[in-house]
Amino acid sequence: ITWTKDAGWHDARVMPYGPIAMDPASSVLHYGQEIFEGLKAYRRADGSIVTFRPEENARRLNESATRLALPQIPVELFVEATKQLVAVDAEWVPSGADQSLYIRPFMIADESFLGVRAAQRARFMVIASPAGPYFSGGVKPVSIWLSQDFARAGHGGTGAAKCGGNYAASLLPQNVAAENGCQQVLFTDADNPDVIDELGGMNLFLVRGDSTLVTPALNGNILPGITRKSLIQLAQDRGYAVEERAVTVTEWREGVADGSIVEAFACGTAAVITPIGQLKSPDFTIDFGDRAPGEFTLSLREELTGIQYGSREDRHGWLEEITAL
Ligand code: PMP
Repeated sequence: ITWTKDAGWHDARVMPYGPIAMDPASSVLHYGQEIFEGLKAYRRADGSIVTFRPEENARRLNESATRLALPQIPVELFVEATKQLVAVDAEWVPSGADQSLYIRPFMIADESFLGVRAAQRARFMVIASPAGPYFSGGVKPVSIWLSQDFARAGHGGTGAAKCGGNYAASLLPQNVAAENGCQQVLFTDADNPDVIDELGGMNLFLVRGDSTLVTPALNGNILPGITRKSLIQLAQDRGYAVEERAVTVTEWREGVADGSIVEAFACGTAAVITPIGQLKSPDFTIDFGDRAPGEFTLSLREELTGIQYGSREDRHGWLEEITAL
């Protein structure tokens, strides 16, 4: 779908996957005016296909669009575009636990000029690919690397937007994490390295023994995860208190040491809910719960995936059913 300042969104079509033509002066190639989303289509046991809260992705894309000076896209148009693609590609939605079709809607500025200004022309596209588990080895706790040399977001920056530039900035720290045997990076506040923001592609939760979940507040630096929002709801439904506030590495370490923090997990569309088994930094290594998945983490994961794959009731109306074409 193409957008121009004069004509708005127009020329929507479904086309075979393949390369797209771009002018070398296209503004996205120079100034990184690009935003994206990630959601999944799930095949339920009865063969039907659903997506999970796609209108939330549409709203978040529009928030990213505002920050990146890109145009707003109507929520219905976004949802319809993802639905149409999944309907056409229904045969590519795999069945089975942890299997899904990963859907990648994205918007790029596509006007040719070299001066620095917001583009007056954009394109919105949706592509998709079958996906298995994000981390190999099933629900195994992951090790995370505390990145204190590199920040992902600064105050007033683009941390809350899902734009390619944020991920470009996270690739070097991700390499450093891998060199240190970790699967993910834990980013902290640019001004206060004790304050936890999020992981490279996931939000973080700490589970306290007194039935409280603690997670960094949406402070403008972290991505407002849709899995995060959904888990807050499911935990509250269970009678858990959820504290969205500033969380520090010190609080985490002390809580683990005195037994008040019993589990930690990361969550996101791709990774679902992943227990955190180890936190490493140049100065220390902490192993949690003998690096075994926590009980609460596993049961919350079971509940969320149960809703997505149809073995549990969708009591909040989060699923959008797709009719294959
Ligand atoms: N933080 C970052 C940086 C991410 O890339 C993601 C994945 N989109 C998340 C958090 C989790 O968001 P969601 O639950 O909407 O997938």
